[in-house]
Amino acid sequence: MWHFAKEIWVRCPRCDGRALVAVHPDHRDGHAYAVGWLTAPHRLTCTGCSHSGEWTPRPWRSGAGDSYFSGRGVLAVPALGGPDDPYFGLPLWFRRPCRGRVLWAYNLPHLELLEAYVAASLRDRPRPAGSQTLLERLPAWMKSAGNRAEVLAAIRALRDTA
Ligand SMILES: [Zn+2]
Repeated sequence: MWHFAKEIWVRCPRCDGRALVAVHPDHRDGHAYAVGWLTAPHRLTCTGCSHSGEWTPRPWRSGAGDSYFSGRGVLAVPALGGPDDPYFGLPLWFRRPCRGRVLWAYNLPHLELLEAYVAASLRDRPRPAGSQTLLERLPAWMKSAGNRAEVLAAIRALRDTA
C-alpha cells in the first residue's frame, strides 16, 4: 500500500481541483524503509490554484497507532487505508460510494491495479501480478462475486475523472 501512497491525489480544499500530497522534495532521499518515507515531511500542492500546505511529522503518543523510532525521536506513523489522505485529512480524488461503502484509490496506477484485479476476477482469468498483499487485503465486499460488476463500473467511472 505504501508504494501507492507515495503520490496521493486529493481534492484541493481551496479550488476543489486535483491536488497532490507527496513527500516534501527536500526529504525524498535516504529512506531505507517504507516507514521512514511515511513519516517524512509531506507537502500538498495544487497546480490549479497554487495552493500548498506543509505536513510535519508528529511525535508518537499513547493511542496514536504505530510508532517509528527515528533520529528525530519517536514518531507517529500515519495510518493508510481510508478514503481520506492520512496527512492533511483531505478527501481522496478517487472516491465514490459503491454498495453502501466507499471505493477509493490513492492515484491512477492504484485505481488501474484494482480495475485489473476486479476485471480478471469477473472473467475468472489469472490475476495480474503486482502487489499481491494489497490485493489480498482488499475488503471482502469488493471481492464478493455479486458485487464485482458494480465495483468495476464504479472504478471505471472514477477513471474517467483522471
Ligand atoms: Zn487548488
